[in-house]
Amino acid sequence: MASDSHFRPDYAACREHFLNLSNVLGGELMRAINPASGPDGLELSTDFLRLGPTDAERALILVSGTHGAEGFAGSAIQCAWLAAHGGQLPDNLAVVMVHGLNAFGFAHLRRVNENNVDLNRNFIDHEADHPHNDGYAKVAHFLAVNRLDGPEREAADKELLRLGVEMGHMNIMRAIGGQYDDAEGMFYGGRVPSWSNRALREYLPKMLPNVKLAAYVDIHTGLGPSGYGSPMCYHLPKSADYNLAKAWWGGDVTAAAAKINHGKTGVGAMEALMGARVICLTLEFGTLPFDGILPALQDEHAWWWHHRDRDGSTIKANFKAAFCRDDREWESQIIERGLQIVATSIEGLVKN
Ligand SMILES: [Zn+2]
Repeated sequence: MASDSHFRPDYAACREHFLNLSNVLGGELMRAINPASGPDGLELSTDFLRLGPTDAERALILVSGTHGAEGFAGSAIQCAWLAAHGGQLPDNLAVVMVHGLNAFGFAHLRRVNENNVDLNRNFIDHEADHPHNDGYAKVAHFLAVNRLDGPEREAADKELLRLGVEMGHMNIMRAIGGQYDDAEGMFYGGRVPSWSNRALREYLPKMLPNVKLAAYVDIHTGLGPSGYGSPMCYHLPKSADYNLAKAWWGGDVTAAAAKINHGKTGVGAMEALMGARVICLTLEFGTLPFDGILPALQDEHAWWWHHRDRDGSTIKANFKAAFCRDDREWESQIIERGLQIVATSIEGLVKN
């Protein structure tokens, strides 16, 4: 269907569309069932699909739903590629799709998982001391609010704005870059490997037992210019991996800021696919300006922890809109850019 945007309204419909396309193409499909359940007891899973040979030495790994409700765009890109190109692949190359890595957040319209864990902060060494984030402690009280409205909330929002000016935009971004101390707070990275973390490490080697070179692309939404997929790689400036990322994905690929493992999901791929070189990219599509995203995050957090006795439908609708715009033009920009990144990944893997 040429007019199909491949966007679907909820996790279940996204998954169904993904499975229907997968079944037509006949790749290898593995389902990891999440022990938590979705709304109305819906069974949740992360689904792994491989197209191409089991013993492929080169692979593109394309991930959706790391941040739950950000999964609509990732799922649509995965489905658009399956619908358009899924049958034909170069020799010795496989494409692995990880659908709904954080299925709980995807189904419940949360960014975090079943344990309030921000999955993209969870892939650190949990045997070592967990990093402490002073910046987060400074803004947490005003960020992770417990009120949806009223004077207390207005005061908190005002204080957050003031701190934004005082600390500067970059420091606010650092403050929300992850924390490991407040299990009910925002951007909590968790203190043990989450279910999705373990599933990714278990299934990727099963899907790609012989891989030597892989591109790992994790699709996100919510930051950056609307409709554009900003390419942000994990690797350090001047490193060979960064140079390869630039050769594959273009000169505007940004490098990692410092030699710190911030717990991103691709670290799981790098560690689990032993003996393989894995070039990791976060592809981040903008939706709304950041000052439109923050209230949606605050409201959803406050509702989930403190007001679930109230009707949350408007809060959830606003939350979804912050990460997936209800706009056909935006949707087609996502698909176009997503397919471009898939194509350049495959071209790059073939050349190197
Ligand atoms: Zn994200």
